[in-house]
Amino acid sequence: MTGRADRIKMQTPLVELDGDEMTRVIWAWVKELLLEPFVELETEYYDLGIQERERTHDEVTVAAAHAIARLGVGVKCATITPNAERVEEYGLSCLYPSPNATLRAILDGTIFRCPILVEGIRPYIPTWTKPITIARHAYGDLYKAVDLLIDQSLAGSTVELVATAPSGAEKRLLIHDFVMHDDPSGVVLGMHNTDRSIESFARSCMEYALETRQDLWFAAKDTISKVYDRRFLDIFERVFEQDYRTRFAAAEIEYFYTLIDDAVARVIRSEGGFIWACKNYDGDVMSDMVATAFGSLAMMTSVLVSPNGVFEYEAAHGTVQRHYYQHLKGEATSTNPVATIFAWSAALRKRAEMDANAALVDFSYRLEEATRATISSGAMTGDLYALAHRENATRLTTRAFMEQIAARLEG
Ligand code: NAP
Ligand code: MG
Repeated sequence: MTGRADRIKMQTPLVELDGDEMTRVIWAWVKELLLEPFVELETEYYDLGIQERERTHDEVTVAAAHAIARLGVGVKCATITPNAERVEEYGLSCLYPSPNATLRAILDGTIFRCPILVEGIRPYIPTWTKPITIARHAYGDLYKAVDLLIDQSLAGSTVELVATAPSGAEKRLLIHDFVMHDDPSGVVLGMHNTDRSIESFARSCMEYALETRQDLWFAAKDTISKVYDRRFLDIFERVFEQDYRTRFAAAEIEYFYTLIDDAVARVIRSEGGFIWACKNYDGDVMSDMVATAFGSLAMMTSVLVSPNGVFEYEAAHGTVQRHYYQHLKGEATSTNPVATIFAWSAALRKRAEMDANAALVDFSYRLEEATRATISSGAMTGDLYALAHRENATRLTTRAFMEQIAARLEG
C-alpha cells in the first residue's frame, strides 16, 4: 500500500525518537500499518535504542532534543533507563541517564499525562467521564532535597537553616533542638525550589490549559507551609493576573487554587475534564492514582510542553520488557499499542496545526476514532480484555488488533 498516490503530504518533518524492546516493535508496526499507508511520513529520525546510545555515548539523545527544539514537535518511543542489570545485559560502558531526563533538561517544561477514555472500559470512579490531565512540576522539593540522620554521633544537635548571601549577610532559623537527655536523635530535611522553575511551571500549565481549553486547578498546602507552598501560590497568581486572566476569560476557562486535601476530595467527586497542576511529590503520587483509576497504564499518554511552545509526545508506560522477552521467544504478545498510537496521532496533529495542514489534522482524529471504535466493538488487547464490561470482547494479539484498526481506517 505504501506509495499510494493519494497519501497525505507533510510540509515539515516530525522529530522521531525510536526506542527499545516491545515498544520498538510496536513503533515499527504503527508506522507500517497505521501511518505509512495513509501519510507520506516526513521525519527526522533519531535512534534512542540503547545500543545506539552506547555507540554514540548518548550524543544521539542530545541531538534529538536539539532537533525537537528546532522543529517544534517530536514523538518518542519508550526507552530503557539503564540500571545495573541493563549494563550487564547490553554490555554498556556506563549508566546513561534517563533519556527523558536529558530531553527535559534541554527543552525545559512540564509533563502532562492524560488518560485515553474508551466506551466499554469504565474507570474505577464511575463519575469520571472525561479525562483528568495531571501536570507534575518535575523540579526540586523532595527530589533535590538533602536529608540528614541525627544518629548517635550527632545526638543532641541543634539543627539550623543557614542562608549566606554573597555580601556575607546571614540568616539563621532553628529547625529543631534535639535535646540531649530527652529525645536526642531523629531526621532532618532541607529542600528548595526556585522562582524561575515555579514560574516556568505555571506558564506551561496555563499555556496548556488554553491549548486544550480546559480549566486549570492548582493545589498546595499554604495554610501549613506559609512560606514555601505560599510562594508557589503567589507566583501562580501573579503569572495568571499578568498574562492569562483575559485569555482564560476569552477561552471560557478558569484557573482556581485550593488546598491539596480539598482538591483531592473535589477530584474524586468531579466528572474530569480539567488539568490538575501538582507540586513534584503530589504529581508523582497522584499520577499513579489517576492512571490506575482510569484503568490501565497502557491507556495513558504523556506530553512534554516547554514554556516556549515545543511539544514532545510519548506513551506514559515503559518498554514492556516482560512482553518483549516473550516476543523474542517467538510468542505473539497482546501488548497494548494504544498509548503509542495516540502519541503519534497527537504529534502529527500538532505538526499539522502548526503547518495549517487540514488533511493531516483530519487524519489524526480519524486514527484515534478508528482505535477507539475497534476497542468499543469488542476487539482489544489482553490488559483491556481483563477490564472490559462486555460479553462480546475478544483478546487479540498486538498485530491482529492493529490490523483491525487499519481495516477501519481503510473503510
Ligand atoms: P513498563 O514497561 O511500563 O511495564 C510494566 C508492566 O505494566 C508490564 O509488564 C505490563 O504488565 C504492564 N504494561 C505496561 N505497558 C503495557 C502495554 N502497553 N500493554 C500491556 N501491558 C503493559 O515498566 P517496566 O517493565 O518496569 O520497565 C521496562 C523498561 O521501561 C525499563 O528499562 C524502564 O527503564 C523503561 N521505562 C521507560 C519509560 C519511558 O521511556 N518513558 C517509562 C517507564 C519505564 P504485565 O507484565 O502484567 O502484562
Ligand atoms: Mg510515581
